[in-house]
Amino acid sequence: MQYLIGIDIGATNTRVAVVDSMGKIIATTRFPSEMSAGESFFQKVGEAAAKLASEYQAIAVGVGSAGQIDRKTGSYLPGLYPTAPWVGVPLREIIATTTTLPTFVDNDCKISAYAELKIGQGQGVADFVSLTLGTGLGGGIISNGQLVHGISGVAGHVGHLSLDHSGPQCACGNRGCLELYVSGTAIAKQGSLVFQEELTSPQVFQRASEGDSRALQILHEVGTALGQGLGAMANLLNPQLFILGGSILEWYPFLESSVQASFRATAMNGLQDTPIKRSQLGGEGGIIGAALYAWDQL
Ligand SMILES: [Zn+2]
Repeated sequence: MQYLIGIDIGATNTRVAVVDSMGKIIATTRFPSEMSAGESFFQKVGEAAAKLASEYQAIAVGVGSAGQIDRKTGSYLPGLYPTAPWVGVPLREIIATTTTLPTFVDNDCKISAYAELKIGQGQGVADFVSLTLGTGLGGGIISNGQLVHGISGVAGHVGHLSLDHSGPQCACGNRGCLELYVSGTAIAKQGSLVFQEELTSPQVFQRASEGDSRALQILHEVGTALGQGLGAMANLLNPQLFILGGSILEWYPFLESSVQASFRATAMNGLQDTPIKRSQLGGEGGIIGAALYAWDQL
């Protein structure tokens, strides 16, 4: 059996794992993400990977990271945060140098889409869109069995599909972006506004589960926005299915009926029955996807 290193650099936590070429996790380590520390943090990630790689004689490294990454240089692009400490950090070079292994890097949500293709709901599906609903809203597009990169590698930013040209201002420069309505951050913000106290998104879902009508109304609007976004994507890409994943998906039953109604209202005739499935990969999709991505690129 051959071993790979899979790395998932999320907004909150980073995981480094040894994964076999069948996609089974053999060993794993995790620590808090400190992207704002800049280069020294990525050095630390490289060292953790190097330790596991030498222990298991791994042959390559795959990395999925939050943020925009230039596919040619393997460095972070300015994206939404042009002055952030990680902008310009040569992620691929740092990891490749510390591990002395071939290293492949890409955006974490695109890597999650790849994981769905290889071991998840997207197995055997040529065309689908995967969305990750967490702190923000990211995505990855699979077309004809391949991950869509776009010309500079940043395709799939479903969170910045605009639903309302006169909506609230987004950090990307646009207005009314899907992420402003459908993300953990958006739910927490709306909940805090409506209840006039600082709430997290799980607390809003919790109140909805207790039958609170204001919380239910917030989630109805979140689901409606998500359905509208999915409908627009269906009209544009005509995928075989949508796969929803991410940390807020455990609460999906509170969104589902609004998502379905709004999706059917937005998608064109003939596209309204496009299935919307939930990911079954949980938190491990990222590291497995990253490892298999590296395996397939070798
Ligand atoms: Zn935006």
